[in-house]
Order: sequence, then structure tokens, then C-alpha cells
Amino acid sequence: MDCSVVGLSSREDKIMDNKETMLRCDVRRIYKLKQGDSTLKEPRWVTVNVKEIREDERGDDVRCMHCHGAVRIHKQQVEHGPQDHAEHQHREDSESCIGGYYFRGNHKRSKHPIE
Ligand SMILES: [Zn+2]
Repeated sequence: MDCSVVGLSSREDKIMDNKETMLRCDVRRIYKLKQGDSTLKEPRWVTVNVKEIREDERGDDVRCMHCHGAVRIHKQQVEHGPQDHAEHQHREDSESCIGGYYFRGNHKRSKHPIE
């Protein structure tokens, strides 16, 4: 009896670890454009692997590539743990985004997109 209870809880832990594993997301990067004598700085969204995102690129500079909603970046903590990935900050984005763990099958843009 004890064994089956332990087995069940460890399986649930594994499912929890695997939720929201988006390995790619959008990041806002500043591109420098030469125009005559001056250099224009232009922010552009680019889609990258989460593992390429730098420590200082967080918060408003990252978003979900599918729904443009806010995401949280998770870095791999241990060698065989979950790899670097992004997770929706808002449950409602996760429910309406094709990349979300709680996706209900009707993809919509985030109600609070990061532009
Ligand atoms: Zn999304």
C-alpha cells in the first residue's frame, strides 16, 4: 500500500516538472543601424532558443513567441534536470496559447501582450 502511494506521488512530481516547456521564445534586442553619420538604435523581436537568452534579458524583454504574453525564464539547475525553458506568467495565457501547458484548443493572442 505504501509503495503505490509513493509511486503515484513521484509520477505526479515528474508531470509538474514537465509543464510549460517552451524551449524557444521571443527576446527584444537592440539593433544598431547606420544612417549617414548617426547610428540608430532599433529594438526588434527575434525568436531564439531559451538557452541563448542572457541573464540581463528578462521581464519586458522576453515574451511568448506564440501569443506574445509575458513569460518567466527558467534556467537548467542541475545536469539532468529540466533544460532551459520559458513558462507563461499568466495562467490565462497558458490556457489560450498553443504553446501553453493548459491549452484548451483555441489559440488566441495574449490579452496583455508585450509589444
Ligand atoms: Zn503563449
